[in-house]
Amino acid sequence: MNAVAESIHTLADLDAWTFPGTALALIGRPVAHSLSPVIHNAALAELAKSQPRFADWRYFKFDIAPAELPRALLLFQQNRFHGLNLTVPHKSLVVEHLAGSDAFVRAAGAANTLTRTGSGWRGTNTDGYGLASALQEDFGTELVGAHIILLGAGGAARGAAVECLRARCASLWIGNRTALRLAAFINEIAPLAGSTELRSFDLGQPPAGLPADATVINATSLGLGSADPSPIDLRTLPRPRAVYDMVYRPPRTALLRQAAELGLAHANGLSMLIHQGARSLGLWTGATVPVPAMQAAAHAALNPV
Ligand code: NAP
Repeated sequence: MNAVAESIHTLADLDAWTFPGTALALIGRPVAHSLSPVIHNAALAELAKSQPRFADWRYFKFDIAPAELPRALLLFQQNRFHGLNLTVPHKSLVVEHLAGSDAFVRAAGAANTLTRTGSGWRGTNTDGYGLASALQEDFGTELVGAHIILLGAGGAARGAAVECLRARCASLWIGNRTALRLAAFINEIAPLAGSTELRSFDLGQPPAGLPADATVINATSLGLGSADPSPIDLRTLPRPRAVYDMVYRPPRTALLRQAAELGLAHANGLSMLIHQGARSLGLWTGATVPVPAMQAAAHAALNPV
């Protein structure tokens, strides 16, 4: 069954869905790179060893275009999927289709985790938790008091920004390619800023005045393609403390290669994937999630013998 769970499904498969167990799924485009089915199915298999009720739970992967999202959500509901994760480009798009959401989703304007309810999908967002846990694990960095340079203004950046502001980072500089999208995003989150210095910039022209000793976080989708350029030239910034790329496949993006050349602490998005996924699975199952099983499965998938 895991081979089926890890292959890529489409909207057409939902019209003829016959899986008899409890189904979870990731929706995105592209999704081929995603290790979410690998880590979730490993955790479910581990849980099933001591709790047989999880033996028929599986996590699937669906390639869904933005225009297909409303119909897909309806079909996932009708086929009684228990929970959904969303990735590029659906995290912001999904919000208007939710029957309910928590304060984090309302602040970020983006959801990555949905749970089926009687009246539709309820959204939450575990990306911020996943990022905060990852920075702690990889760099020993706490968001409180930190200087953060965040690249991107899409769904993942929204979750990251809200977490940075809630945690009271010292400054949050957000750079994006499309100025209009960034301006709208900054307006939405400005009420959360409190004492945090919240600034925006054109990704193509990093300004003077960016903070030294910052943690640079890539939340653009640049890097998903193995030939993608880096979203920013690190040499144009004051020397950062660390560089985190939310992309984990490929594991060494152009941004991380440059960070290594410059002798900067750096890490890819695998740790964030694990921690946001563990938080989502915990919400869906109510169980204590076996994080080491997720980590082992991810490392095995990325480093096949
Ligand atoms: P999204 O909502 O589609 O946003 C994409 C972002 O990338 C936007 O800011 C967009 O800028 C920017 N972008 C796209 N192409 C670009 C280019 N050629 N040059 C400069 N900027 C470009 O996607 P998302 O859901 O936020 O995901 C973003 C990335 O984070 C993806 O790689 C995703 O896999 C990764 N992610 C990883 C984790 C994890 O657990 N490790 C979790 C969440 C997301 P514009 O506004 O200018 O279009």
